Amino acid sequence: MEPPTEGACRPSTRRLYPWEIDLLQEIFAGCLDYQAVRIHECARWPDALDRLSRRLRRMPASGGHNAVTLGNHLFFPVSLPQRPPAPGSPEIALVAWLVHELAHAWQYQRLGWPYLWRAVRVQVQLKARAYDFGGEQGLQEQRQHGCSLQDFNLEQQGDILRTYYLRRCQGKDISAWAQYIDDIHSM
Ligand SMILES: [Zn+2]
Repeated sequence: MEPPTEGACRPSTRRLYPWEIDLLQEIFAGCLDYQAVRIHECARWPDALDRLSRRLRRMPASGGHNAVTLGNHLFFPVSLPQRPPAPGSPEIALVAWLVHELAHAWQYQRLGWPYLWRAVRVQVQLKARAYDFGGEQGLQEQRQHGCSLQDFNLEQQGDILRTYYLRRCQGKDISAWAQYIDDIHSM
């Protein structure tokens, strides 16, 4: 995913924009300390870390970008949209990426630093499959077996929230996702 402003991408740190918080309220409601979150944009090291860790795990190069979340600090190798993306805009994928990384900040706020070990472990053990939650059918089947959001690994949780946001923006059916979003509010 190549950001349109990469030529002018300079490292910077900020809080969540008010429009981002408005949009995220629908997912995290009062369950995330939004003010504690810091967004680092145009950080160079997450891509370098990804290249190194893929070599160590004998995985092919991704050819894409990598973000890293450490506690409340989200490090992106690109700049994120400064304003809400228009419907159908490719920038929606960047906001969905923010949702995935914020899931890790939410996990940190709930679990403390052990979340980081759990997230790294699942990436090492499952590699690219770490994120695969089975799509709409997987969500429905797991629900029928009594599973909640907590029964998915930390990367799957992030991608359930990311794809929820994407599908909502695309006007697709989100009923299989909605019950897992409700889980956030009842934990
Ligand atoms: Zn993740």
